[in-house]
Amino acid sequence: MDNWLLYLVIFVAIVIGWWLGRRERTKPARVGDANYYRGLNYLLNEEPDRAVSTFLENMEVNEDSLETHLALGGLLRRRGELEKAVIVHENILKQARLSSDVKHEVQLELAQDFLLAGLLDRAEELCVALSQESDSSITNSVRQESLKIILEIYEREREWSQAIEVAKLLAGSDPSEHYEKAVSHYYCELAEEYLAKNKLESAREVLREAIGHDANNPRTSLVHGQIDLQEGLYDDAITALTRIRDQNVIYAPESLEALEQAYHADGRPEEELRQYLLSCLDVAPSISIVYILAKSFRAEFGDEAAAKFIADYLKKNPTIRGLSPLIDLHIDNATGIAKENLAILRSFIEALVADKPSYRCQKCGFEGKKMRWHCPQCKDWTTIRPIVGIEGE
Ligand SMILES: [Zn+2]
Repeated sequence: MDNWLLYLVIFVAIVIGWWLGRRERTKPARVGDANYYRGLNYLLNEEPDRAVSTFLENMEVNEDSLETHLALGGLLRRRGELEKAVIVHENILKQARLSSDVKHEVQLELAQDFLLAGLLDRAEELCVALSQESDSSITNSVRQESLKIILEIYEREREWSQAIEVAKLLAGSDPSEHYEKAVSHYYCELAEEYLAKNKLESAREVLREAIGHDANNPRTSLVHGQIDLQEGLYDDAITALTRIRDQNVIYAPESLEALEQAYHADGRPEEELRQYLLSCLDVAPSISIVYILAKSFRAEFGDEAAAKFIADYLKKNPTIRGLSPLIDLHIDNATGIAKENLAILRSFIEALVADKPSYRCQKCGFEGKKMRWHCPQCKDWTTIRPIVGIEGE
């Protein structure tokens, strides 16, 4: 689709260039015509690169042709031809007589080209200059757009402190909670960095900020629990981690490892952990929670109780992923051909789910195998969730 569009834009551009050339010509020279036919020839020979060069060499940027230049630049970027998009946009900016509005718009386009090409320094430099531009003609929307690009750069570079500053500026004129939610995650990122370096006091400090910006962010409870666990405060860790059920129960599986550790280290009764996990299952299905519960039932009441628990769950929430632990329980008690058949069945199930994603972004549909708080595709936060259903949790 983009191919014929590109051809169309270049074709229109060459026709306009040729027509303008003819209109402005005083002498009946045939130079414009030659360029027109040369450009057309490149297009017909499917040589869009040379057609673009011919277009740039021969078509001046002016009021009549500006839209065509912009369309060509945008199209090249969408096709991933970033170097050419940069050339087209820089070519527009070279023209001396551009109004401030147009100049700013083209600078934003150029920054997008740099961003996509991974030239983050150049994109940042351009957008910082735009966002700090004292020119009164700069519109609020240009300022906001340049700040959004800067924010994306800081997110990519994991410069969380700088991202916090920029997101706070954007939050001021955004009625949704979008940037507040993001700032809470940036502080969580900082807390995780401190936690990894065992700087627990600093981790707690930034975590308080994370909670201040979004008290319902389940990640704050997860990180809180992890900090407490690292400090040996098992009771506090359990209190923090179990808060996730009320914040957003679908993220409870993310806390299972830390929760099990805290329960075992604290020596609290296994029954208490089971009650909590069963209460999570009442709200949302999760095969990861079923695994933990089945393990606990097996240790205390034996294989039969564990198998009955899994089978009852699967009747209500059928999922292929639930069959593996069920087969494991039966395999241990089977012999001969039954055992062999169960092993074959298990390998089939493993192969079936091996390539299936476990998580999906609710906003853009991005799918992956591991949990991420930040969607790499739409760049939103807390939009990725476990996939529920026959092939999911
Ligand atoms: Zn997404």
